[in-house]
Amino acid sequence: PNGSCRDINIVVLGAKGVGKSATIVRFLTGRFIGDYDSQMEAIFSTNIPIDGKQYTINIMDTVAYVPGKELKEDPVFWADAFMLVFSLTDVSSFKAAQQMVDYIRRMREDDRMPILAAANKSDLVHLRTVSSADCEAWCLDQNCLSCEISASEDPMSVKTAFGMLCHRVRVINKK
Ligand code: GDP
Ligand code: MG
Repeated sequence: PNGSCRDINIVVLGAKGVGKSATIVRFLTGRFIGDYDSQMEAIFSTNIPIDGKQYTINIMDTVAYVPGKELKEDPVFWADAFMLVFSLTDVSSFKAAQQMVDYIRRMREDDRMPILAAANKSDLVHLRTVSSADCEAWCLDQNCLSCEISASEDPMSVKTAFGMLCHRVRVINKK
């Protein structure tokens, strides 16, 4: 075993427009890019310490990924962990996240597979249509981590979200 080779693959999934790319860009660059209009799937890598050890985090940004759609390398099998992003201003994006988690749990039979549900756009609380109670109840039932983030206004929330997910991978995979 190569002790220096610690990789964690994270797939970021969610409906269009919920802020997947903005969240990833915020995490990688510390900046918010309001209109990041890429239609490309891409994998970004960064090195960060987790619990005092250095890790390479590979993050796959996806574009309107439809569960069950044929893909060459199904991201579901590449992932060590999933970040499900939805907008707390958009109930349909919350439902889409729930469907994707169902799909992940079916495909990857290990129900300890780390999943974090990130309710994005917490800066738009006045437009909130998904309650934190509903989200937390669902996450508890699905054994998912949950948090509220704002890619645009709260960089620390994004950092914490990725940190929580990576920590969970470490604990489960003993990486
Ligand atoms: P994606 O389709 O899931 O990758 O979504 P994008 O990252 O392209 O973001 C979609 C839109 O939501 C853009 O106009 C972003 O500026 C906006 N957006 C992303 N994150 C936030 C957020 O935390 N708060 C607010 N108010 N807008 C956001
Ligand atoms: Mg995007």
